[in-house]
Amino acid sequence: MDLAESASLRSEMVESQLRGRGIRDERVLAAMGELPRELFLPPDLAGDAYCDGALPIAAGQSISQPYMVGLMTELLEPHPGMRILEIGTGTGYQAAVLALIGCEVLSIERHPELAAAARTRLASLGLADPRLADRVRIEVADGSIGWRLRAPFEGILVTAAAPRVPDPLRRQMADGGRMVIPVGPLGGQELVQIIRRGEGFEERSFGGCVFVPLIGAAAYGEEELLRARRWPGPFRGWRR
Ligand code: SAH
Repeated sequence: MDLAESASLRSEMVESQLRGRGIRDERVLAAMGELPRELFLPPDLAGDAYCDGALPIAAGQSISQPYMVGLMTELLEPHPGMRILEIGTGTGYQAAVLALIGCEVLSIERHPELAAAARTRLASLGLADPRLADRVRIEVADGSIGWRLRAPFEGILVTAAAPRVPDPLRRQMADGGRMVIPVGPLGGQELVQIIRRGEGFEERSFGGCVFVPLIGAAAYGEEELLRARRWPGPFRGWRR
């Protein structure tokens, strides 16, 4: 895909898949309109970069549908300088969208090879646009328990499905901070936005979604995961 084709498919994606479905935050639209999604995909899938769906990536994981990235980012209400914890770096695409908006992102990934590939990718993209290299830090760890030493976070974005909202993540939210997380059983979840008000939490649901599972201490039990191996969901290739 050459630069001109990439730019034209991208602006079509922004208009039809994002703006056309109600994404209104101009910062989100601008960042996703700027970032070449094909650079985050395995080479054989680059041609599908602007299709309206999730795609498989390395380690049996997936990159979310562009609309889902747009919606989750908008629900975080990101602004320049905002401190965000992302759980599930995957390709680094979501982290890069936040970095282009000006956020400072700590992103945690449990698969070392995905984390390493995302670091390399953002470092090389960072040569052309230093925002991508300077504003994202990627760590290999179990993100289901967050990152206590760097808390509190103004935004927490969980890009893997959780059976319930992990308590450690709630505790690491700043007052007035937001969390966006897919919550529910492995076969399908609800996208939930949580806003912390002192010791209370306002929660709102934003419709159905399907994510690969969060694997960790504050996530699904072994039995649920074993059952999921037999579940013929949209991510047939999903593996732990
Ligand atoms: N946001 C990514 C896509 C994430 S896919 C992108 O933009 O490309 C979900 C990711 O969550 C997978 O890479 C998976 O390995 C990771 N993951 C699952 N459980 C995790 C955990 N407990 N801690 C950190 N990462 C986890």
